[in-house]
Amino acid sequence: LVEISGVNKHFGDFHALKDINLSIEQGEVVVVIGPSGSGKSTLCRTINRLETFDEGSIRIDGKPLPEEGKELARLRAEVGMVFQSFNLFAHKTILENVTLGPIKVRKQKKGEAEARARELLARVGVDHQADKYPAQLSGGQQQRVAIARSLAMDPKVMLFDEPTSALDPEMINEVLDVMTGLAKTGMTMVVVTHEMGFARKAADRVVFMADGELVEQATPNEFFTNPQSSRAKDFLSKIL
Ligand code: ATP
Ligand code: MG
Repeated sequence: LVEISGVNKHFGDFHALKDINLSIEQGEVVVVIGPSGSGKSTLCRTINRLETFDEGSIRIDGKPLPEEGKELARLRAEVGMVFQSFNLFAHKTILENVTLGPIKVRKQKKGEAEARARELLARVGVDHQADKYPAQLSGGQQQRVAIARSLAMDPKVMLFDEPTSALDPEMINEVLDVMTGLAKTGMTMVVVTHEMGFARKAADRVVFMADGELVEQATPNEFFTNPQSSRAKDFLSKIL
């Protein structure tokens, strides 16, 4: 579903992504881990074209990433992204946060968008908060709304960049549980996280990055019990 081949990216003189090759199958859950500054966020941002790249190609469903305009809006709908900060619209209600994209981009009727939004809010467990504003919700609830908002666009793939890093510990699991549930529905997911429990449990594949390189990839079991590279061994010895 997502084909990344030979992707290189620089920020000025800094080589942030070094010849990245990664292909993600329909329904696969890929967890990306690696030290700070290794290029995990840059890779995610490149996939939904929040960042450009210098060389190589990225195809989603066989189609190259669009350059601009309308096509780019369609791409952002097809590739959902959930960030560390929840990025909800502060002056819109929870329900409006979820219906805005479907109405504006997908041209859904208001009633139809609202019915679907309520269904998604129920799925992430915040249906009783539909008429509140983001600031009235806990961080964990806000992040679950952010997930519902992405899902409302019917994405083909969901990218998560450290979705639980800004949360208090007691709220981390409620968000991970929603993500685990989503994985079980067959959603194709790319998840950058430091939550190794989630990686072990939910990932089909773990991708390890260091210094802008994709150093190794393996099943979670293989990766955690028998990492191949010295950089992966070193990383795991620090976090496990
Ligand atoms: P973390 O775990 O801390 O989130 P990361 O693996 O997500 O790290 P990136 O945010 O992708 O790392 O950054 C990779 C490298 O690219 C870092 O050295 C960073 O300083 C650099 N970088 C990222 N964005 C920019 C930018 N807009 N301009 C210049 N350098 C950047
Ligand atoms: Mg990052």
